Amino acid sequence: MRVLVTGGAGFIGSRLANQLHRSGHYVRVLDDLSSGDPSQLSQGINFNRGDVRDVPKLWSLLQRVDVVYHLAARVSVPASILYPREYNEVNVGGTVSLLEACRDVGGVQRVVFASSATVYGDQDVQPVNEAMATHPAVPYAVSKLAAEQYLFTLGRLGGFETVAMRIFNAYGPGQPVPPAHAPVIPQFVQQILGGGSVVVNGDGGQTRDFVYIDDVVEALIRAGEESGVDGQIINVGSGEETSIRDLVETISRIVRQDANVLYNREAAGGIARLVADVTKAGRLLHYRPRVQLEAGLRKLLERDAGLRRAASGIHAPSATHNASGELPPMGATSTGSS
Ligand code: NAD
Repeated sequence: MRVLVTGGAGFIGSRLANQLHRSGHYVRVLDDLSSGDPSQLSQGINFNRGDVRDVPKLWSLLQRVDVVYHLAARVSVPASILYPREYNEVNVGGTVSLLEACRDVGGVQRVVFASSATVYGDQDVQPVNEAMATHPAVPYAVSKLAAEQYLFTLGRLGGFETVAMRIFNAYGPGQPVPPAHAPVIPQFVQQILGGGSVVVNGDGGQTRDFVYIDDVVEALIRAGEESGVDGQIINVGSGEETSIRDLVETISRIVRQDANVLYNREAAGGIARLVADVTKAGRLLHYRPRVQLEAGLRKLLERDAGLRRAASGIHAPSATHNASGELPPMGATSTGSS
């Protein structure tokens, strides 16, 4: 296959591009490097710096491409609350630009879109499946849901196949830890390893589905290859429900370091529960999440030297972090990103 990965210098995109390249596919990447790092990409991958809204650039990058993986996006939930226009422009506008270019260039067989579990919002029933009504509660989630709708509509009108993958909280080695809006797992690991404090908004009983990067990459690759997935929405999670409190305990046990946890009970904990029903991914993609949380955390610690280095530079500062990962913020003082 000849493949274009938008957002291919990012956390998930670079792992996906490298794995596709290893499997013998020709891989092109488009990324504006607003947060990505092209040095993560294997030699032999064709990297192009640019904006996913740049239609003339897309015309040339889409030449002779069979499958597009569309991951380029702004990914911070709290930032989306502050800058909804930017999220609309990049996440929705970028998707529409890409789909229009696919239609005009012709030849693209399928577009696989990285959507998000945030589109589910609060649900009475867990685990969540793809047939449930969506309740997006933050602009990031709205942008992903709107992009899904454009994906299916423009794919149908343009004569190419489309698949929307609703990814839950991805984690793994190489996930960036920005100073603001850091994702929950690398932030916790860094703070606990470094002997610092972590602040959990709410009582820590809120649950999430943490899915290891290798499982996410495998699901995405299969979505580009399997037949019978046109027009489908597919959850990509671990199917494992973990409370934030249990996450802290598990990390502490693995790193053999007691965590000093400060609960900010004044702050809301965000969505109370969110866990994926991965039955459909199993049926359509033969996807089985392979890496359970404890094993995934051990791999993260083994393989992420940057995280260990960063932790060794921390001398017990107290950190308020995002306990939600890519999900809506868990309270006024928390931050969130995907
Ligand atoms: P990331 O920020 O590491 O990757 C996004 C990439 O897109 C970055 O490399 C960034 O530079 C690039 N980008 C941003 N705006 C762009 C633009 N206008 N033009 C071109 N490139 C642009 O985030 P990630 O965690 O790797 O997420 C990848 C995708 O998966 C995103 O679409 C995200 O919404 C989705 N997703 C991620 C998670 C998660 O837990 N990480 C969960 C659900 C969905």
